[in-house]
Amino acid sequence: MPELPEVESLRLYLAGEDLIGGTISEVQTDWPPNRSDDYDLSELSGRRIERFGRIGKNLFVYLDRGVLWMHMGMTGRLAVMHPAEEPMRYARMTLFLDDERRIELDDPRRWAGARLEESDVSIRAGLGPDALESELTPEEFVARVKGKRSPIKSVLMDQSVIAGVGNIYADEALHRSGINPSRRADRISVARLKNLHSDLRTVLMQALRYIVDHPDERGRPYVVDAYDDRMRLYRKKGSTCPDCGGELQTRKFGGRTAYYCLLCQS
Ligand SMILES: [Zn+2]
Repeated sequence: MPELPEVESLRLYLAGEDLIGGTISEVQTDWPPNRSDDYDLSELSGRRIERFGRIGKNLFVYLDRGVLWMHMGMTGRLAVMHPAEEPMRYARMTLFLDDERRIELDDPRRWAGARLEESDVSIRAGLGPDALESELTPEEFVARVKGKRSPIKSVLMDQSVIAGVGNIYADEALHRSGINPSRRADRISVARLKNLHSDLRTVLMQALRYIVDHPDERGRPYVVDAYDDRMRLYRKKGSTCPDCGGELQTRKFGGRTAYYCLLCQS
């Protein structure tokens, strides 16, 4: 699932495609019918792209009027297509641009979403600080996490506490920090939480670098899978801890499976 590094790689990609100043001439969508009322994007036509932004897993296209908010769901990705290129197989939203190119949101699983908003205020209101932003100092991280009585894994994935961390990178950071995902956030020492903050940033930055350095054959960021060399934990039944060789354990938090090592994480 696209988390902060994957979405930031999409933002960087769009920002590098010389799209600023272009006008959206037409929009086509192919959303699941039961969600179609959320996705009337026809009013995008005629609006000009001013810049791209991101907070957490949310991607914003700021327009001369309003902002297009997008999230990638489980399998969403974006691609800038040239006129001669065939549409992507699962193109759910296509923004046709006045220079003949188009931006496609491709999404096999159909969980991605897009909505036209007057501004980004309502989206930002529900989100904590972005996990990689400098305003999230170690002290701020501790202050936000320390008051929670939930398992640390759930707290890390709570977008209203910190924006951008999901299942995979939460597990990676907790393993690095030696913290058991079940441990109650308010019972973890300040020193360990500061370490966790540092490890979280390391994990996210390393992932971002990896994604940027491994584009697909057309230079586009490719859909993450959880099984490449940026990951410490191999997320399969029976896999082992990279530090001690013990078998990894699993446990569900909020419907998402955590992988962790009982010996190395306490
Ligand atoms: Zn271990």
